[in-house]
Amino acid sequence: MNPDPSHPMPHIVVLGSLNMDLVLRVPHAPAAGETLHGQSIHRIPGGKGGNQAVSCARQGAQVSLVGCIGADADGEALRSALQEDGIDTDALYTDLAAPTGTAVILVEDSGQNRIVVIAGANAKLQFDEAALQARLAGAQVFVTQFETPLAQVQRGMELAHGAGCKVVLNPSPMQPFDAALWPLIDTLVVNEVEAGALAGRSVATPIEAAEAGAALRARGVARVIVTLGAAGAVAVDADGARHHPAPQVKVVDTTAAGDTFLGTVAVALASNQTLDEAAALGIRAAALCVTRPGAQPSIPTRAEVLQSPP
Ligand code: ATP
Repeated sequence: MNPDPSHPMPHIVVLGSLNMDLVLRVPHAPAAGETLHGQSIHRIPGGKGGNQAVSCARQGAQVSLVGCIGADADGEALRSALQEDGIDTDALYTDLAAPTGTAVILVEDSGQNRIVVIAGANAKLQFDEAALQARLAGAQVFVTQFETPLAQVQRGMELAHGAGCKVVLNPSPMQPFDAALWPLIDTLVVNEVEAGALAGRSVATPIEAAEAGAALRARGVARVIVTLGAAGAVAVDADGARHHPAPQVKVVDTTAAGDTFLGTVAVALASNQTLDEAAALGIRAAALCVTRPGAQPSIPTRAEVLQSPP
């Protein structure tokens, strides 16, 4: 439902992965050969595509998700969770052979996480072009990542760009991609590791993030945001680079922080807010996310973000 009838709901199409997350709380990540007792295990809906779609929906967008699940109980649980957030799942395909994607996530007492992903049905995604084009026709923004087959991601970006949508790319997990993708991207959102890998330099500080962002803009992308964990994010566009610090919060679990940030940025851009306004809202949303456990349950609503300190 539109939380603010005076503003039309932006429409966003997300193409991406869905995983059932097996979240294990552990005192610390086990070393090679070490066996340790964890504190708890939970099954929580996740996957970058699903998380980013949920983040967009909770920030007030009408969202269509293009993805692929297996014909199993996890797949149905993921579909129901998305529908509870009002997300259009009619372009969610079911692969009859592969299992639904699974992620095993170890969350340490420090809040840091370590993740192993089994792609399963995500690797089988093959969307119907007419179905995607029908959704893109009414959308302002197209969001995608690299957890589904790269050829499908690339085709989705081409169709979205052709339909006049702003393409927001989160190239995670990082892998080499075709240079033809660069000019299709409106806004590239990368963490420090991805920024470093793409720019071929180490990125740990806001100054290094600004330099990497400028180097990436030279490849043909209009706008870049480099996220820096607890240090916030750096927004880079034709006007230069600006650092937006993150508030200090008590971290419980950083899972989905990047996806929460990205979804919030996508909705702001779909509503024609500036890159800096989008980054600032993304930081407020992600700061709330890291104080809560799990992936999708930890993603805040628009009302929660607007009530948080600016
Ligand atoms: P993840 O893979 O854990 O979802 P990521 O590596 O894609 O995240 P990060 O740069 O770690 O991305 O985090 C994204 C955003 O989340 C940051 O820009 C920041 O706004 C927020 N964030 C992350 N960690 C913290 C923290 N410890 N305190 C406050 N905000 C944080």
